[in-house]
Amino acid sequence: MKVIAIDIGGTNTELGVVDSENGIVEVASFKTKNATSFDNYIETLLNNIKSLTVNHDIQSIGIGAPNFDSKSNEFRPVNFPWNDLRPFNLKSFIEENLNISTYVVNDANAAALAENRFGIGKKYPSFIMVTIGTGLGGAIVINNKLFDGAFGYSGEFGHTKVDHLSRQCNCGSVGCLETIVSANGIKKTYSLNMKNITGVTPEQLPTVKEIFTRANQKDAVCLQTLEFTFETLGTKLSDFIHIINPQAVVFCGNISKSLEIYKSKMIDNCEKQLLSDFRGKVKYEVSDLLDRKMNILGPASLAFDHSEVLI
Ligand SMILES: [Zn+2]
Repeated sequence: MKVIAIDIGGTNTELGVVDSENGIVEVASFKTKNATSFDNYIETLLNNIKSLTVNHDIQSIGIGAPNFDSKSNEFRPVNFPWNDLRPFNLKSFIEENLNISTYVVNDANAAALAENRFGIGKKYPSFIMVTIGTGLGGAIVINNKLFDGAFGYSGEFGHTKVDHLSRQCNCGSVGCLETIVSANGIKKTYSLNMKNITGVTPEQLPTVKEIFTRANQKDAVCLQTLEFTFETLGTKLSDFIHIINPQAVVFCGNISKSLEIYKSKMIDNCEKQLLSDFRGKVKYEVSDLLDRKMNILGPASLAFDHSEVLI
């Protein structure tokens, strides 16, 4: 069985034909922002999908889209530069034009679907996913089903609050976990630590990769920065575990690749705050799909999930 999977990103829109036996068998992509308008973007997307249907018998289509509202089935793109942006029902549009069943999921949740079908999440029917990248995202899978909430936005772990934290978050609120545990958060902590420890405010911030490299070389400011980051995450993880009681926490996103040496302190911090009934039971795993195309495999899983129900 073959499906088309699509990841609508701010920079690129990626498409893939995914075979249930052989994985990704064909890919295509185009620059999202090269579209001159939202209508032009939708037309380009449709033409790209059509081209992939020429050589393949497609059962269904899965799409990972930003700001997708599962209640209204509308995709509400907010970060794109076009004047004609409006809430848009991608599912109906594609189904009307191509007569292929289409399913859409929030891009943040799509990674958990990939993990559940293709990755480490196969071992754990119930897990939470924590995605550490530019921001901090998450998703919840219960009994092999994505729990995406009433409107499709569940798992926003990044905007849960940290005690006594006054950092301003991009969401408009203050004290969100994402302002510590994310690429931007790590840089902010580094800057504050530099000032506290050395009395110097850095003119130019190092990249997060450099902070990890310097920490490996025992740079005190970088070490303290990363220890604070992951100890804070550990504390908050205990909250999520108390609420959801998952079998595992699966980490993904670029920064989770470098988690290994901080993992034990993070876990210690988490476990010591768990109720005794919870302790020692949760597995903490870094995704094994990080270098594979999770952005395509996630929407593909969504399409397979629906197609298998129909067969
Ligand atoms: Zn926030």
